[in-house]
Amino acid sequence: MKLNITCIPGDGIGPEIVKEAKKVLDKVCEKYGHEISYKDVLMGGCSIDAYGVPLTEETIAAAKAADAVLMGSIGGDTSTSPWYKLEPAKRPEAGLLGLRKALNLFANLRPAYLYPELKEACPLKKEEAEKGFDMLIMRELTGGLYFGDRYTKEVDGELVATDTLVYKESEIRRIAIKAFEVARKRRSSVISVDKANVLDSSRLWRKVVEEVKKDYPDVSLSHMLVDNCAMQLVKNPSSFDVVLTENMFGDILSDEASMITGSIGMLPSASLNDSSFGLYEPSHGSAPDIAGKDLANPIATILSAAMMLRYSFNLDKEADAIEEAVKKVLKEGYRTKDLCLNDEDAFEIVGCVKMGDLIA
Ligand code: ATP
Ligand code: MG
Repeated sequence: MKLNITCIPGDGIGPEIVKEAKKVLDKVCEKYGHEISYKDVLMGGCSIDAYGVPLTEETIAAAKAADAVLMGSIGGDTSTSPWYKLEPAKRPEAGLLGLRKALNLFANLRPAYLYPELKEACPLKKEEAEKGFDMLIMRELTGGLYFGDRYTKEVDGELVATDTLVYKESEIRRIAIKAFEVARKRRSSVISVDKANVLDSSRLWRKVVEEVKKDYPDVSLSHMLVDNCAMQLVKNPSSFDVVLTENMFGDILSDEASMITGSIGMLPSASLNDSSFGLYEPSHGSAPDIAGKDLANPIATILSAAMMLRYSFNLDKEADAIEEAVKKVLKEGYRTKDLCLNDEDAFEIVGCVKMGDLIA
């Protein structure tokens, strides 16, 4: 197979971690007989420095021309970087929002997996950490409260602020289809999260998800209210496989799910549209405090590359190989500094480059 990838290394630790992900991709493609090519483009702070704007037409065109986009991270230190003296629409992060919109990436996938080797970092009860968990939050990214009409006006002498939560059937259907498709590649279970006891948008959400389910007899579906889900995530995380939810609930729940893994440097993510195209990036930020010091943990980006193989190219075997290599390296006791917790002596501490070498 031929894989045509556009890379956006970005800012901070971005270039370092993308380099390691490419190293791993090159190795796995060589082993399984695929041809992979990359085109690097600028976005975020580095694009502001070079072109005065965080996102250029060239970068959008390069992303559209590729089969998939692999990204590092965007942005800098918000208190010291000159990028943050610009108005919000011209800052680094606006580049990513613009690109997501240009590519119509409506489905955000964030897996949360507790590595047995890292369970000491898990803030949950010991018996839950022992059981482990492996879930994937599927968040709708282009609708809901964040995109509805909003306004503030004065009524009877006081200010009244209004936000509206809008979903069309078609928007719910396309994300539900993604969730059931992804569940088939996992443990075939979808839990759809809403607030159907209160919100009309949630009642429509439930109805459409039920309709989509009819095409997936092999995948189980249950519904859960968002307040209960927030509780179950910390009480009983091993009960979740795919969690399907709207934009704001997904924003909150995916942060909660990532925190119970205890390791920000390990979590990948994918944003997909309705073709096989996707943008893959680590869940963490640009970590400007450690940039250029060979301290960054490249694993979240390497696992994002594995998601790319799985979801944009259907290369499950190759993706499994990368995920297994990560598990093996952890089992052997290698850690980047962020994963060492209190007990550095118990591990072999390695830098970003060495970690990439070990996994590749
Ligand atoms: P965002 O840019 O998403 O708003 P943020 O700026 O709040 O995120 P990060 O940039 O993710 O946060 O960094 C938070 C902390 O985690 C920093 O101390 C950073 O050094 C550390 N960190 C983040 N990613 C990594 C990584 N891959 N390896 C090691 N440390 C990391
Ligand atoms: Mg940041």
